[in-house]
Amino acid sequence: MSTSPLEGGCLCGAVRYRIDAPPKWIGYCHCTSCRRSTGAPVTTFVGADAGSVSFTCGKREQFASSPGVQRGFCARCGTPLTYEGERFPGEIHFYVSTFDEPQTLHPEFHVYCEERLEWLDIADSLPRYLATTKG
Ligand SMILES: [Zn+2]
Ligand SMILES: [Zn+2]
Repeated sequence: MSTSPLEGGCLCGAVRYRIDAPPKWIGYCHCTSCRRSTGAPVTTFVGADAGSVSFTCGKREQFASSPGVQRGFCARCGTPLTYEGERFPGEIHFYVSTFDEPQTLHPEFHVYCEERLEWLDIADSLPRYLATTKG
């Protein structure tokens, strides 16, 4: 597991963030909303305590992708950055690939496996859950 603080940002560098606590969890999400929002066949989230997060440069734009869900992104370059849901009070979920050192952040589980693209075969032994029974 990586050490804090964790830093990251968008592709153009306009939005930068820092997290001053270890991640609460790290997991893959296979849901169709994440897929469309990121353009990637699977998403990997890093769950952070909202209180440990600071935006050190710039500001996210927010888009309500579902009732009670806000997805944050850079308005300049479009990089998806965050997910916040009413179902996860006090948490901000960051996309792992926006961190400066994603190689230090190891996923622990998969969620929304019922929506996984069939051709995407990830050969790990991590626990697999339906919907968000975990995370
Ligand atoms: Zn940007
Ligand atoms: Zn998802």
